[in-house]
Amino acid sequence: MKRVLITGGAGFLGSHLCDRFLAEGCSVICMDNLLTGSLENIQHLMGRDDFVFMHQDVTEFLHVPGELDAILHFASPASPIDYLELPIQTLKVGSLGTHKALGLAKAKGARFLLASTSECYGDPEVHPQTEDYWGNVNPVGPRGVYDEAKRFAEAMTMAYHRFHGVETRIIRIFNTYGPRMRLNDGRALPAFMGQALEGRPITVFGDGSQTRSFCYVSDLVEGIYRLLNSDEVYPTNIGNCREMTILDFAKKVIELTGSGSELSFKDLPADDPKVRQPDISKARRVLGWEPKVELETGLATTLEYFQKKIAERKSTQSETRKAA
Ligand code: UDP
Repeated sequence: MKRVLITGGAGFLGSHLCDRFLAEGCSVICMDNLLTGSLENIQHLMGRDDFVFMHQDVTEFLHVPGELDAILHFASPASPIDYLELPIQTLKVGSLGTHKALGLAKAKGARFLLASTSECYGDPEVHPQTEDYWGNVNPVGPRGVYDEAKRFAEAMTMAYHRFHGVETRIIRIFNTYGPRMRLNDGRALPAFMGQALEGRPITVFGDGSQTRSFCYVSDLVEGIYRLLNSDEVYPTNIGNCREMTILDFAKKVIELTGSGSELSFKDLPADDPKVRQPDISKARRVLGWEPKVELETGLATTLEYFQKKIAERKSTQSETRKAA
């Protein structure tokens, strides 16, 4: 791979992929409309000869000059709060955006990797989730805009593979965390860390008995890199198998931060999956991949990042107050 396009390249995962592909000696085109992505995530790459930022919506016609060896399609709102606030954009980027990105891959003869999601399994009746499980998704619920867009994206990707012969890869990403997540994206980890660091109540939805399994971002990026370079066309789960209840996760964040925050129980959002844990036998077998970073280590690094962000935000607020 020499020249790589990453859609959603200024987002949490996209920006880590930009770093990884540059480190592998590729030149990277980062495309983002900055709806949920941020220039802060790629600031350190600006000005490099091997890096280009294109401010562009992937659902519009894409014109990218020159050759492309790979396209990694990561553009999409990706947290429950984001897709509740941006339902139409979420549907459009998963459907029209995937169509445009696949069309570009076909025109350039580039390999295409789709960022899909464990949300394709919905509120799963098979546990842990294996790739051959078709899922239990409510198409008309609030999460349907994300889940169905990604399911459509997978179908479209397979159609371009079968009908046009595009070399395609599909990753199903399970809950992932790390630096560059947005503090206010509403996901459990940034919410809990922000609340713990600021001494606010920790908002646990439902009774907190629902489970998730959290993967550190560097492990995920390694899985993506290996999948892109493999021959595997069908979806592959990448995630961490260490499953825990959200209540235990909240307690872990309190313990790690040494916070005095209390727990505050709120209503469980509609269609919130009751369990989630990837079966990664396929990734182990086909990619020789498994996660390496312990939860405690990953959380400590992420905590440092959020501490810095909160400190920066406070200093900006106090400067603004002084100026006023
Ligand atoms: N959650 C919570 N409090 C919050 C945010 C999320 O208890 O402030 C719960 C949410 O209901 C879900 C889990 O944490 O059961 C993980 O939520 P997240 O938004 O991180 O991702 P999801 O796996 O639901 O897409």
